[in-house]
Amino acid sequence: MAMKWCDEHWTGLRKSIEDAGMAHLIARGGAAAAQRLKDELAGTATEATFDPLMAAWARIDACFLKPLGPGAALHYMAVPENVCTLCELARMNPQSPEIVTNWVGGSTRDVRAHCVEIGLLK
Ligand SMILES: [Zn+2]
Repeated sequence: MAMKWCDEHWTGLRKSIEDAGMAHLIARGGAAAAQRLKDELAGTATEATFDPLMAAWARIDACFLKPLGPGAALHYMAVPENVCTLCELARMNPQSPEIVTNWVGGSTRDVRAHCVEIGLLK
């Protein structure tokens, strides 16, 4: 899918996860993140390798696409240029300048709660 977050929003999400005390849980580098994704697809992922940054990112993409209906993923797959989910969210909601901050904060809180639930954080 041609959805790739811009540097500004990716860095912002990472900072939000780090600021919430989860820096040590973020997968180290691209290889570790790719392995984690592979484990998840294969159904062999364990909670010990849960990556809050990838989880928050996946959650935001899913929340963005869901209300747009089943055609949305296909639409974004077909566009030739990369589309940043959060840039697109802001563009679609000009009346809510705080929407990106709210989504990043909300996904960070949800992921943090999950980390506590599975015993990765106190
Ligand atoms: Zn962006």
